[in-house]
Amino acid sequence: PVRVRMAPSPTGSPHVGLARTALYNWAFARKHGGTFVFRIEDTDKERNTQESYDSLLDLMQWLGLGWDEGVVVGGPYGPYRQSERTDIYTDVLARLRESSYTYDCFCTTEEVEQRRKVSGSKVMGYDGFCRDLSAEQRTAFEAEGRTPVVRFRMPDGEITFDDLVRGEITFQTEHVPDFALARANGDPLYTLTAPVDDATMKITHVLRGEDLLSSTPRQIALFEGLKAIGVATETPAFGHLPYVMGEGNKKLSKRDPQAHMALYREQGFLPEGLLNYLALLGWAIAADRDVFTLEEMVEAFDIKDVNPNPARFDLKKAEAINTAQMRLLSIEQVTERVLPFLVDAGVVDADDEADRALLEKAMPLVAERINKLTEAVDMLGFLFVDEADFTRDEADAAKLLDEKGVEVVQAAYDAVEPLADWTTQSIQDALQAKLVDELGLKPRNAFGPVRVAITGRRVSPPLFESMELLGRDRSLSRLRSALD
Ligand code: GLU
Repeated sequence: PVRVRMAPSPTGSPHVGLARTALYNWAFARKHGGTFVFRIEDTDKERNTQESYDSLLDLMQWLGLGWDEGVVVGGPYGPYRQSERTDIYTDVLARLRESSYTYDCFCTTEEVEQRRKVSGSKVMGYDGFCRDLSAEQRTAFEAEGRTPVVRFRMPDGEITFDDLVRGEITFQTEHVPDFALARANGDPLYTLTAPVDDATMKITHVLRGEDLLSSTPRQIALFEGLKAIGVATETPAFGHLPYVMGEGNKKLSKRDPQAHMALYREQGFLPEGLLNYLALLGWAIAADRDVFTLEEMVEAFDIKDVNPNPARFDLKKAEAINTAQMRLLSIEQVTERVLPFLVDAGVVDADDEADRALLEKAMPLVAERINKLTEAVDMLGFLFVDEADFTRDEADAAKLLDEKGVEVVQAAYDAVEPLADWTTQSIQDALQAKLVDELGLKPRNAFGPVRVAITGRRVSPPLFESMELLGRDRSLSRLRSALD
């Protein structure tokens, strides 16, 4: 059975690449009826934060990528936070230390550095000095009070594996130095913890970012040791997902604001929209198709189709995909999604019947016009605000409510004030007759100032409908107040 995992370290704020990795693992698990494991790699005490951990959980919940085993939900191979698995690593380390796969190393970094200088070697990393210490050398080091680290002995020759995305990859192990599995104080390192977890959690496929490709030969080699001591039965398959590039064809980095997932949620992206876009960072459902549902993705997903070339992150495209996903929702669904944003912004009181009723009437006017959920806040604010608190966008007012604009608003007031019947149609007819037919104004010049007077902004839901919803008294009062 397929078992995949995502294994983020809780440092910093979750970024786009991580979300893409989560999505591909999730889709792969769903496609194959497998298990998606969510574990946390938090052995680096200096860099982990609780805040980062919380935001990882938050992000996954928001995206709706459910995991079958892992933090929060538990499972048969827990605990799923590395900080709670120290006993497991200590035990495995002790057993590896007894085996021929490792050796004790007493060197300091300075000594290794010094030897490199003397020999003029270009090879970085450890030079294998302690590989074959004699008993005397060992005793001498111990007598100096040195504590050894356990170092993995890389095999000679080459390591070849069939990358699920990239095909066959070969590493010459002479370029992969022997590596430490734990600090001298016994704290386990990523080099040990990740393969031990993959082994003990019975992970079958490791799908992760290309940045981790260089650790793969070490992990594959370590798996041989883990098998020898009975911790692992099989080495998982590996697949490395392409880099995500940002501006100027540089790797999208933490410094790019758009690399951070929190941004999309704050801006009112739909999780569906963002997931749809993330799916396209290295994969395509068809040559001529960009918009699809998660179910359709799962149905079509094949890891072999993932493109190994770097994917370019394009915010404009992400927004366009999000818009397309918005249009797939019913008005009721958009309303439900928009509501928390309106409540947060203080526009709507969710418990107020009148607010809810007005929102229901107004949503059909905006649902097809917004690209992100937050835009509803800007568009609908004018309807819910108390007259006393109503303000207009200063730039829009300066532009459209100039001398000419004020004359137009006065004419509009005169046209609608006598209306007996306050409906979209009657308002439209009256304004059309007065401003366009009688005064000869172009519709843009006629309705622009009225729109700013009524809604406070140049971009708003349709004007006549808005005036009907706002009601006669409030509409007239706003037209009047624009005249001052
Ligand atoms: N914890 C690693 C990271 O955050 C991922 C390790 C892995 O996927 O093997 O980059």
